[in-house]
Amino acid sequence: MPESDHLVRAITKNNAFRAIAVSTRDLTEEARQRHNLSHTAVVALGRTLACGLLLCYTLKKTKGHLTLKLKGDGPLGSIIVDSSNEGTVRGYISNPQVEVFDKKGYVDIDKAIGKTGYVHVIYDNEDSMPYQGSVEIISGEVADDVVNYLARSEQIPSFLSCGVYLEPKTGKVLHAGGMLIQALPEAKEEDIKVVEETLSKLDPYSLLLRSGLTIDKTIKKGLSDFEVEIVSEFEGLCFYCGCSQKKFEDAIGGLSKDEISNIIETIGYAEGRCHFCNNKYLIKKEQLEKYLN
Ligand SMILES: [Zn+2]
Repeated sequence: MPESDHLVRAITKNNAFRAIAVSTRDLTEEARQRHNLSHTAVVALGRTLACGLLLCYTLKKTKGHLTLKLKGDGPLGSIIVDSSNEGTVRGYISNPQVEVFDKKGYVDIDKAIGKTGYVHVIYDNEDSMPYQGSVEIISGEVADDVVNYLARSEQIPSFLSCGVYLEPKTGKVLHAGGMLIQALPEAKEEDIKVVEETLSKLDPYSLLLRSGLTIDKTIKKGLSDFEVEIVSEFEGLCFYCGCSQKKFEDAIGGLSKDEISNIIETIGYAEGRCHFCNNKYLIKKEQLEKYLN
């Protein structure tokens, strides 16, 4: 199994269940550093990054992007993740420095995200109209909310577990990932009961990873009553944002001459920051003046 972030797909030999698992430690740590995330924010965004990738690889057959947005009434504000089934993901959170701890000193994710609000999913296939769906937030824990989305909006009964484990002092990401198990049409009622029973007793995902299990082993543990076959693996999941200085210049260059003159007179330069990756872009006065000619 590779050390870097990767994805594993599996199926049970009786064709009753399929599963996808992702390891997302490095890309979650990159998100933490880029956005200077609090402990609470990195757990919330890290779970959503894993779920965004799992959803993208589950719902999308062709090339394209999936946006997963959690808009709760908690202090973190909105969480937005954009994933592609080429293994890239990026995301941000409205209030990245907020901390919410419970009485025992653990991050309190449902309180931080909020138990009221919406889960929005948009997927864009490039060659067809974008599809949108949304459901109400039921838990604020991320995984349960995505499962509820799959059940309500897509009519797919699913089990999803995801987790982020941090180095307690520094907040550095030590483990992150998630797993999605879905019943296929071949699944018998008793098969589903067996899996539900096993999964209800399973440790939280961050603990499974912390105990040293690789993601293929987490699938095998979740489907321990069945013979599991690994169908494919993909290495190279990564945090990636397509923004660039050129795109920023194109956006500013597309403004009206009045608007550009106004920027030159009031600020003297144009500065932009990408929400998704926190990269900053700058256009100096001399270049702004060129847009006027
Ligand atoms: Zn960016």
